[in-house]
Amino acid sequence: MAKTVVVDEEACTGCGTCAAIAEDCFQLNEDTEKASVTSQDCSEDLMQEAIDTCPEEAISWK
Ligand code: SF4
Repeated sequence: MAKTVVVDEEACTGCGTCAAIAEDCFQLNEDTEKASVTSQDCSEDLMQEAIDTCPEEAISWK
């Protein structure tokens, strides 16, 4: 089964890095200043880069 990425909105500070790295899969809600996963259809490498780059460690594999 394919791995799934999730964002912990409690931990997210809305820096926007994940959306900049993988714009097709993450989106920053400018009202709540929280990121969410909009699609799982990014490469595993790109998802991993977003996970590794998030300063709050708010993104993880489920
Ligand atoms: S990189 Fe992390 S802290 Fe920054 S918007 Fe994405 S989930 Fe939130």
